[in-house]
Amino acid sequence: MNSTYRLYILPVLVALLLLIALYLDLLPRSNTVQSDTRLAMGTLVTISVWGVPQVKAEQAMQKAFMHIARLEEVLAWQRPSSEVRKINQDSRGTWLPVSEELAKLVELGLRVTELSHGAFSVGLQPLTALWGFSSDQPRSEPPPPAMIAAWLAAYPALQAVQLRKNHDGAYQIKLQNDSVGLDLGAVGKGYAIDQAIAVLQQEGVMNAIINAGGDLRVIGSKGAQPWRIGLQNPREPEHIVSQSLLRGNVAMMTSGDYERYFIFEGKRYHHILDPVTGYPAQSGLSSVSVQGQNASLINGLSTALFVLGAKEGMPLLAAVPGSEALLIDLDGQRVQSKGFVVDWLQQ
Ligand code: AMP
Ligand code: MG
Repeated sequence: MNSTYRLYILPVLVALLLLIALYLDLLPRSNTVQSDTRLAMGTLVTISVWGVPQVKAEQAMQKAFMHIARLEEVLAWQRPSSEVRKINQDSRGTWLPVSEELAKLVELGLRVTELSHGAFSVGLQPLTALWGFSSDQPRSEPPPPAMIAAWLAAYPALQAVQLRKNHDGAYQIKLQNDSVGLDLGAVGKGYAIDQAIAVLQQEGVMNAIINAGGDLRVIGSKGAQPWRIGLQNPREPEHIVSQSLLRGNVAMMTSGDYERYFIFEGKRYHHILDPVTGYPAQSGLSSVSVQGQNASLINGLSTALFVLGAKEGMPLLAAVPGSEALLIDLDGQRVQSKGFVVDWLQQ
């Protein structure tokens, strides 16, 4: 090959390959994040992906949103046709068939119940319905104390929800009595995020974030940049107090007394309930964020830690490898485990 020929063939080849790649939309759109936001799970969910061609990104995000919508149809006790609703309408004290998908989530919830010695429970639906925080017409004052006392007297604590797998591989569930009903509100969002991330990965997306109203999981990065996450100030939720620069495979879920609440006679009543008292948890905290790999599990963990408070709650982290927590108390003081990724902003 003469040298003039060699000089030209390389740039021509490169240009040709570029053209083919462009035509087939094979080129990564580097440095651009593609996002889609939709209303799901009672909040705005934003999926952002990085490093894939536009067509592929749109397809993957669409599939992920469809998966979330399908899961909501299984998990939300408020939905008339959901599996959870059907189980809640069925009889108590007997074994009922349950889908593997729902069983897996209940199993995870029962693990958090065990870890937290009952501070967390997936069986609280009658109590959460009584308080009405997720109803269309939320309360503005607490329910009558006699109703809470009646629920408390009947609630079978650690025996509330039982799950078993038969020899044929099918799952069955038992709700002990009428004071028990399934409410997966504290783990469902994390579960949906985990599953939607898996959908994105199956579609070839390696860099993404799914953020459901501040509860989120990231994979990969934004090119050279990490994903940047803000944490709300519990007493001024429109402002953020910190940012976390996350990359790799990390989820961060937050439970706060500012998310759903009302003030009655000067006292704040919020949606995270203590199964031991029947009232909103009063552990001295206003916000609990947990970071870890598995959004479903740390979703449950954040609720459990909120109910238990700093002293009893922090030791739970040892049982979930890779989990880290940041607690903000009612005076705005912070307690955090060593590995929690956070940069505080100037106040
Ligand atoms: P989160 O915002 O993740 O802390 O979840 C709160 C939701 O979980 C509430 O809206 C209830 O549906 C449900 N919930 C409230 N208290 C508890 C509890 N102690 N254990 C399990 N789920 C709870
Ligand atoms: Mg939770």
